[in-house]
Amino acid sequence: ALAGFMRAPPGRPAPEGEDAVAARRRAGEFREIGRRLIRNLSGTPYRSFSALPDGAILVAEQLRPADAALIDPSRIAAVVTEEGGSTGHTAILLRALGIPAVLAAHGLLAQLGRRTRLVVDGTTGQVIVRPSTRTAAAARVDVAAYARERQMLGRLRRLPARLSSGEVVTLQANLEIPAELPMIAQSGAGGIGLLRSEFLFMNAETLPDELHQEAVYLPLIEAMAGDPVTIRVVDWGSEKNSDALSRAGIGESGDTNPALGVRGIRLLLQHRGLLETQFAAILRAARAGPVRVMLPLVSSVGELRAARDIYARIGRRLRRKGVEIPDPLPPLGIMIETPAAALMADVLAQEAEFLAIGTNDLTMYTLAADRAATDVAALYDPFHPAVLQLVRMTADAALRHRRPVSLCGEMASDPIAVPLLVGLGIRSFSMHASAVPRVKRAIRALAMDDCRRMACRALEAADGREVSTMLMDYAAAARQPADE
Ligand code: PEP
Ligand code: MG
Repeated sequence: ALAGFMRAPPGRPAPEGEDAVAARRRAGEFREIGRRLIRNLSGTPYRSFSALPDGAILVAEQLRPADAALIDPSRIAAVVTEEGGSTGHTAILLRALGIPAVLAAHGLLAQLGRRTRLVVDGTTGQVIVRPSTRTAAAARVDVAAYARERQMLGRLRRLPARLSSGEVVTLQANLEIPAELPMIAQSGAGGIGLLRSEFLFMNAETLPDELHQEAVYLPLIEAMAGDPVTIRVVDWGSEKNSDALSRAGIGESGDTNPALGVRGIRLLLQHRGLLETQFAAILRAARAGPVRVMLPLVSSVGELRAARDIYARIGRRLRRKGVEIPDPLPPLGIMIETPAAALMADVLAQEAEFLAIGTNDLTMYTLAADRAATDVAALYDPFHPAVLQLVRMTADAALRHRRPVSLCGEMASDPIAVPLLVGLGIRSFSMHASAVPRVKRAIRALAMDDCRRMACRALEAADGREVSTMLMDYAAAARQPADE
């Protein structure tokens, strides 16, 4: 991908003071209000970046998850943003779309003109401005090698995800948007471990009703042909945004820190109609195959109990109406994404039917470092022993209470991290579909003893750097490519 395109105005003073940062954020909010006003007044549909030339690289100061969802991967060669982080939702969506991307390329726009050529390497996180002919040719060779490797990994599709010492691991796919379904089918994933239902609310003017949602879930469940689908009820808030919810007056709380405000299950319990509609739609669609229902951002057992009461009530209501729904109801589980939930995993595991560890948020809340912020990217480290302790506590609690536990944060797609996570007691992983084959390759090369040994050492390590060095050394010794 060698064409250049610049969307935001170039240049900004560096380093910025707090005032400048606040002013820039405020300016962003005003721009957004302007965009909404114009779109609503002119009845314009959501932008799909259709004005960009084919093969362009989109370079922006910032890209919202909802905008990322509108990108056509067959037309946009790559995306680079000055802000953002690798586990933010914009990055997650770009990965789902299979678009090479580099985020947090601070200061890049100032170096670009409208037709500047770039090489974007999403694997190493490198952006080369005005590459020489030789560098551009080398990049083309890398692209071909990457395609060959993917083809080779494709051959693993039918092989089991079994350690060399015999233990079997479950690999499932995360789904952000329905367009990913063919890729999930090709990946060899054994079901969907995390269906992020936010796409139903993104780039939509109105809230999707029960029948609309049912019609979206049904083909997804059918396509998995008997493999389980874990649907997470909408996790609105923090960096995610939805016009449909804002127009319904939901979630515009003006929290000074949205990540610590009304998001996830908190928002759903404040707006119970939203939760009821989604529960009802999922229960209706559950006739098509095995389904599990998952609650986001739980921080206390009271939230689980309140949601469970609503779930049971909706089940009774549908049965009274004669709607065919599974009996018993599909399992209701929770995400472990807050330190409080991990520390209370023993209590939660008694009442939740399954646990899924969301390391993206768990890392953010444990280390008090925003997952989507460039300036604290170096502090945001899922290998930090504090995060690993919480993963271990959750896995142990699940084992004690015989509850299934999985891990569905971005960490699950990192072949370097997987030996450690297996050693910490995780046997089920969910990740973006294109990562499934290379994680399977890593798993098939592992011995359980090594995994346990690494987990013990990691839990005693002084910091995340020590853990990643240990894991990289192990990967190098095992001749596993430390690739993206
Ligand atoms: C997580 O927090 O790890 C997670 C899987 O949820 P999301 O990335 O959607 O916040
Ligand atoms: Mg999360």
